[in-house]
Amino acid sequence: MSKKILVVAGDGIGPEIVAEAMKVLQALQADGSIAISVEEGLIGGAAYDAAGDPLPAETLAAAKASDAVLLGAVGGPKWEPLHISKRPEKGLLGLRAGLGLFANLRPAILYPQLADASTLKPEVVSGLDIMIVRELTGGIYFGQPRGIETLPSGERKGVNTLVYTESEVERICRVAYEIAMKRGKKVCSVDKANVLECTEMWREVAIKTAADYPEIALSHLYVDNAAMQLVRAPKQFDVMVTTNMFGDILSDCAAMLTGSIGMLPSASLNADGQGMYEPIHGSAPDIAGRGVANPLATILSVAMMLRYSLDAPGAAERIEKAVSQVLDQGLRTADIMSAGMRQVGTVEMGDAVVAALNEH
Ligand code: NAD
Repeated sequence: MSKKILVVAGDGIGPEIVAEAMKVLQALQADGSIAISVEEGLIGGAAYDAAGDPLPAETLAAAKASDAVLLGAVGGPKWEPLHISKRPEKGLLGLRAGLGLFANLRPAILYPQLADASTLKPEVVSGLDIMIVRELTGGIYFGQPRGIETLPSGERKGVNTLVYTESEVERICRVAYEIAMKRGKKVCSVDKANVLECTEMWREVAIKTAADYPEIALSHLYVDNAAMQLVRAPKQFDVMVTTNMFGDILSDCAAMLTGSIGMLPSASLNADGQGMYEPIHGSAPDIAGRGVANPLATILSVAMMLRYSLDAPGAAERIEKAVSQVLDQGLRTADIMSAGMRQVGTVEMGDAVVAALNEH
């Protein structure tokens, strides 16, 4: 049965990189590997300019009616003076909330061809392949009470609340365990159980839920140690699962181990397997319109979409192999350029991936 995809290109380099990802999807559609129907929608600054709203009701309705959403990026200096409720980022947050995307999957993969791009020694990071599973709709970013109040003394008090229910912990752990079953079957749950009762419970639920996955080797780290280990010996990790805030910080740290922001995809999933797929980078206004942006993170986001929402793991693997092949051919966009390689623009990189895809 044909699957429905909503494509929201957004702002800055968004339309440029999404155009290349669409070429890849169209190539798979043309050779019969997948059957999809594609609808386009507005989000972010582009939506504000056209409709006065960074998340028009039609976009949210179309997203809810789709199997998956492919997003470019939102934001840019043009919209910074707007009231916070109208800024492009509000559109993105609204889409995440509207779809109930509680599981954020952030792979940190270092292609061996790009080992020099990392600030860490090549032998520490070469072949790195970690999946960070971050809880996205709970924890301290959403807990009540929150806010800043003025005490009778006149001093101000800032409050945020770290709160999780057992079912919230269980569902994110299940996502991590299911993913690990398709990879190295190792999960490290990251908490601060020695200090925070909420994450003491997190650890207990992680252990209890793991009983349903006897093949998974579950380990636990306190978040401070996890940060240290990520930089010391990152290849010890397969899948990491953690809270919203710890995941926010650790996934950025893991991403930078690879040294190439233009290479990393991400997925955010809800309980029905519906997902939103996007590169981890922003709209890069500094290079927008120049045809130099790296489209590979967006193309790899399509691979994640095929694997996690469209049940087409074979097509996902073909995309990942095609990306590796163009890197083997020495093609590099400016952000990952190094001596002896051939520098190409956005469109040429997209074309090269499609050509490599058609060879397999
Ligand atoms: P950014 O990720 O857009 O850019 C950071 C740096 O990386 C820039 O030098 C940029 O040129 C470079 N870069 C990013 N993607 C690249 C690519 N594909 N190829 C080559 N180089 C690339 O972050 P920023 O500059 O902090 O933010 C710019 C705008 O993007 C802001 O409005 C911000 O709010 C927004 N933003 C959006 C998202 C999103 O849509 N998910 C995420 C982060 C930032």
